[in-house]
Amino acid sequence: MAKEKTEVSEKRIVVLEGDGIGLEVVREGVRFLKAIQDRLPFRLKFDRFPIGGRCLRKEGLPILPQTIESCQDSDAVLLGAVGDPRFDDNPPHLRPEKALLDLRASLGTYCNLRPAKIYPALYPASSLKNELVAGMDLLVVRELTGGIYFGQPSLRQNGPEGRSALDTMIYSEMEVARIARWAFRMAGARRGKVTSVDKANVLKSSQLWREVVGEIAEEFPEVALEHMLVDNCAMQLTRRPTQFDVILTGNMFGDILSDEASAITGSIGLLPSASLGDGAPLYEPVHGSAPDIAGQDKANPIAMIGAIAMMFQFTFGLPELARDIEKSIEVTLEKGFHTPDLALPGGQLVTTEEMTDRILEGL
Ligand code: NAD
Repeated sequence: MAKEKTEVSEKRIVVLEGDGIGLEVVREGVRFLKAIQDRLPFRLKFDRFPIGGRCLRKEGLPILPQTIESCQDSDAVLLGAVGDPRFDDNPPHLRPEKALLDLRASLGTYCNLRPAKIYPALYPASSLKNELVAGMDLLVVRELTGGIYFGQPSLRQNGPEGRSALDTMIYSEMEVARIARWAFRMAGARRGKVTSVDKANVLKSSQLWREVVGEIAEEFPEVALEHMLVDNCAMQLTRRPTQFDVILTGNMFGDILSDEASAITGSIGLLPSASLGDGAPLYEPVHGSAPDIAGQDKANPIAMIGAIAMMFQFTFGLPELARDIEKSIEVTLEKGFHTPDLALPGGQLVTTEEMTDRILEGL
C-alpha cells in the first residue's frame, strides 16, 4: 500500500542583520525561532543578506536589488538595525539608513505598528514616576511610506542667501485613509479609542490628515476619535501616558513620539515593531544599531523577540503563541533578569544570550 505523504508547509524568512547590535539581536532572534520550531505547524527557512553599512562596505550600496526582490518574495522579513557612524558623512543615497527607506517603499509597508507597554516589573526603570506609568499600554500606528521622509522635492541648493535645503511634507487622501482604517481596526480590538496626532494649526498636510481621519471615523462608530496637536501629544505622553490607547500619526511625528514612548517604558531595547501593507511584512525592533554598545553582548534582545511575537500574531496566524512569548518576557522581567540598559537594584544582570535563554525557558 502506498504510504500517504504529509507535506509540511514552509515559511521563508529573509534575515537582514544590518549593523552594530543588529547582528546580535538578529542572531538571538533566529536562535529563538529555531528553538521553538517544534511548536510551529510549518518549517522555517532562513535566507540572509547584508544590508546597511555592512552592505556598503561589501557591495558599495546600502542594499542590493536582489535583496529587495528576495524580501518581496518572502513570507516575512526579520530586520536588526542599520547605522554605522563611519558613513555619517556619505551623501544620502549612500548612507546605511537609505536601505530601510528603499525596503519599506518597495515592500509597500505603509503601516507601522509600535506597541509601547510598561511591564509592572519595570516601573522603576521608567523615566516617569510609578503612579504615572502604571497601566500604560498604547499602540502607535505610524504611516511609514509617505510624508516628509519620502516627499519630493527634497534637495539642497546654494543661492544669494547662502545654502538652503528643502523637504516636502505631502500626504494624499488615499494614504491617510488606509492608515486611518488600520488604526480604527486596531482600536476596535483594544480599548476603542484613537488619538489622531497632527499639526493642523499650521500645516496644510495636517489639515487634510484631520479631515480624512474624521471621515474614516464614521465607518467605525464603536471607536472614539480625538484629535491632538503633536506638541500637546509630546507633553501628554509624559504627563499622563495612560490616557492613550491607539495613537494614529504620520511618518515623522510617529518616529519621534514612539521614541518618547519607549523611554517611558524603561528602555528602547524593549520595543518591537511590525511594518505591514501591500507586500511582505517587516518585523524589527524600534531601536537602531547602538554603536556605543555593539559587540559587547549588552544589547537587550526583548524588542527583537517581541517583534517575533508580532510576526506570529499578524502574519502566521498564531496569536496564542504570540501571547505565550509576551507572557514569558513579562515573567522573565518579574524574576529580575536585566540586560544593562535596565539594570535595576536587586536584579540579576544577564547578557544578550542569557536573556534569550531565560525567555525560552519560560515558554
Ligand atoms: P539607537 O536606538 O541605536 O541607540 C540609542 C540608545 O539606546 C543608545 O544609548 C543605545 O545603546 C541604546 N539602545 C538601543 N537599543 C538597545 C538595546 N536593544 N539594548 C540596550 N540598549 C539599547 O539610536 P541612535 O544612537 O540614535 O542611532 C544609532 C544608529 O542607528 C544611527 O546610525 C541611526 O541612524 C541608526 N538607527 C537605525 C534604526 C533602524 O535601523 N531602524 C532606527 C534608529 C536609528
